[in-house]
Amino acid sequence: MDLETLRSPTAFLRATLGDVPYEDVLRDYEAWWREEGLAISEAVDKLSTPPLRLFDRWGNRVDEILYPPDYRRMLHEGYKRGVVWRVFQDGSLLPFYLLGYVTAFFDAGLYCPYTVSLATAVPLEKYGSEALKARFLPPLLRRDEGVWQGATWMTEAKGGSDLGSGVETVAVPLDAERWALEGEKYFASNAGAELAVVAARPEGAPPGVRGLALFLLPRHREDGSLNYFIRRLKDKIATRAVPTGEVELRESEAFLLGKLEHGIYLILEVLNISRVANGVGSVALMQRCLAEALEFAEKRVAFGKPILEHPLLRRQLEARVEELQRAFALAWEAVRLLNDVWRETPRYSERYHLFRLVAHLAKYWTAERAIQAAKWAMEAHGGAGALHEYPVERWLREAMILSIWEGTPHRQMLDGLEAMERKRAHELLFEHVEPHADPEALKAVQARVEAHLRLDPQEREAHIEKVFDELARFAAEALRAKRAQTQQA
Ligand SMILES: Cc1cc2nc3c(=O)[nH]c(=O)nc-3n(C[C@H](O)[C@H](O)[C@H](O)COP(=O)(O)OP(=O)(O)OC[C@H]3O[C@@H](n4cnc5c(N)ncnc54)[C@H](O)[C@@H]3O)c2cc1C
Repeated sequence: MDLETLRSPTAFLRATLGDVPYEDVLRDYEAWWREEGLAISEAVDKLSTPPLRLFDRWGNRVDEILYPPDYRRMLHEGYKRGVVWRVFQDGSLLPFYLLGYVTAFFDAGLYCPYTVSLATAVPLEKYGSEALKARFLPPLLRRDEGVWQGATWMTEAKGGSDLGSGVETVAVPLDAERWALEGEKYFASNAGAELAVVAARPEGAPPGVRGLALFLLPRHREDGSLNYFIRRLKDKIATRAVPTGEVELRESEAFLLGKLEHGIYLILEVLNISRVANGVGSVALMQRCLAEALEFAEKRVAFGKPILEHPLLRRQLEARVEELQRAFALAWEAVRLLNDVWRETPRYSERYHLFRLVAHLAKYWTAERAIQAAKWAMEAHGGAGALHEYPVERWLREAMILSIWEGTPHRQMLDGLEAMERKRAHELLFEHVEPHADPEALKAVQARVEAHLRLDPQEREAHIEKVFDELARFAAEALRAKRAQTQQA
């Protein structure tokens, strides 16, 4: 790939995908970022957490986040261009992931509000009653500044990995439609959103994840009063383009989505959208890191020539471009598969189980690759890379969050392992990539995974990391070959 391609997310998508749907929209959006968005994004990162106004002058709770006006402009740009509404207009997730790629190239944290807004709209559209949809869907799909935002709040103070014991929020039925929620959400991104989907345990439901259900929670009650409270905003190392807060639910009015007994499936469907977005965002961040490193390496002179012309540094960059292509191929396969299965409801097809494994591999592997790319870009900048005043140190901070939220690497590995044990998802994956894979590599990885699955459960869990990493790399390489073959055809 021509190194020039690294400088533009739209050019990279074109070089990698060939025909890019919505290409004009993406180009326009990218131009906006260069003219206006970049400077706003940098200021938002540097200024850090916006203030939270808890009370008005008369002592009433208002819980307002005081964004600078430019921040709102940056935020609304993606909504206006269709990061959410196009999905429902066109019946496809592609516009969300393509516009997300461009967003995350410039600001990985800003992709979060769009993601959680879509991940609110989708379960509402799939599982909400007609009355709920009529009331809440149109504002989420507005194309102007009046657009509503969504949020996805599962994690509580006891921990996010083990939702079965971590979620202590209780739901009590009020009437046929309405429930009252009581509890606290400890990591609530897009705090202040007009609508959220939240995990809670209906009173009397069994313990563990099977007893959880998914509820739709508006910010305001019908009488206009606050329906949830923001206790405080978190001061984070990165993703400062999205406010993450602690939220209190006090007899908060909410609406059940789907069947009670399907709650955990709905929660996982919400996570499917955001984990895949995390993969796409991680790859976009990788590209940004390599673009920054390229720009510096062309200009920095050492031993009489630009450092890019030194064989070692050049080879390092080229190797990372190949890694970028692998990471993109894996993340994009997760997008394609999700686009096939996102309308499914339990019980799911085999393709859905294949998707789940690919999504776990992609979430895990692309975030790890993004961290490595960010570290290397910093290194390639030498001392300047470590300074807060230049852009490159930010990408390492952003990448660290990408690996933690939406489920840490441990979670991805263990959930991926479960999909292999219970659904034989690895066999589906091998079948899926077989036409493009190197036959020897396929045989080797098949043997490796099967041998791993024969270990006793303790050993299987203890040693999954290496196998998972190898499987991700193998799948990414086979899918990269598939992309290249498709391009040539
Ligand atoms: C900036 C930011 C924004 C966030 N926004 C949201 C949001 O909007 N909504 C939301 O619901 N959550 C949100 N989160 C929470 C995020 O999803 C959790 O941080 C994440 O799932 C991990 O949960 P935890 O922090 O409670 O860590 P824990 O679950 O307490 O885990 C601690 C460590 O133990 C490891 N661990 C846990 N179980 C195992 C195991 N079985 N084997 C091996 N290791 C294990 C974990 O991988 C981790 O390394 C956000 C987090 C961040 C950082």
